[in-house]
Amino acid sequence: MIFQAKKTSFDLVTAFPMFVLWIFIVLVCTYLIYKSKLAKKYKYLLYTISIIIGGLVLGAIPNAVLPIQQILMTISNAGPIAQIIPMIVIVTLLLASTLLIGRMFCGFACPLGALQEFISNLRIKSSIKKQKEVKYYFKIPQKYSKIVRWAFFALIIVTTIFVNFALLQYINPFLGLNLFKAASLTVILFPIISLILTIILSFFIYRPWCQLFCPFGATASILSRFSRYKYRRTDDCTQCELCEQICPTDEAYEDSSKSECYLCGRCVDICPQDAIKFGKK
Ligand code: SF4
Ligand code: SF4
Repeated sequence: MIFQAKKTSFDLVTAFPMFVLWIFIVLVCTYLIYKSKLAKKYKYLLYTISIIIGGLVLGAIPNAVLPIQQILMTISNAGPIAQIIPMIVIVTLLLASTLLIGRMFCGFACPLGALQEFISNLRIKSSIKKQKEVKYYFKIPQKYSKIVRWAFFALIIVTTIFVNFALLQYINPFLGLNLFKAASLTVILFPIISLILTIILSFFIYRPWCQLFCPFGATASILSRFSRYKYRRTDDCTQCELCEQICPTDEAYEDSSKSECYLCGRCVDICPQDAIKFGKK
């Protein structure tokens, strides 16, 4: 069973509500984080909006992975470039936002990112309730997660362009969120399995799909190193190292690049000196 591109393609008109939602969430989060006003209740509300409206109601179409998939498939079939100009524009805009405000899109607007973040927070809550040390069972060192992610990206490029096999269309978990809109469940059977695996893994690993597989995340992680706005320590820092211990991606060190910072805010919440702010250098 080979999935046809048209089954998951989108046009700019049907994509419009998702764009509005992305812009709304990113602007609200940026404002609240910049003003240090992103309370936990707002955070959960924004994750829920992203998951329910962006994921289940709008079917996660488009998402950050779909344009990449369609660009590769068009290259593979030597299709007309005009067909993928909107995809290129979407990816470029998302990446441009990363250069400005880091991974705000990944942090809150991406439904799959929000879902994984939500689950990781459930895990922390249960650890606190049981008075256990808050930690992830498997904290993947970045040097390994990067190898897996870029190897997976290379595999997608090779299988799509050189073998003409749209691997991503089989396993993209975003398509599993398209549960209520897909023409038939068999069309999205493998993506649903991929989504279920992502959900299960999220209880043990922080954002497994983002850290290990997402091709957009791979690209964004390069650009977010250079983002103008990111979480930074102020002079009030007393080097207590609490933020370093709680960060699920080892990005809270003073000299961390923040390439894997999903703006989860754990470092901010735990800092007793209120010494972490989102701002320019
Ligand atoms: S890395 Fe990919 S899946 Fe994760 S939040 Fe970003 S776009 Fe979404
Ligand atoms: S704990 Fe802080 S540095 Fe680490 S990912 Fe979350 S926001 Fe980024």
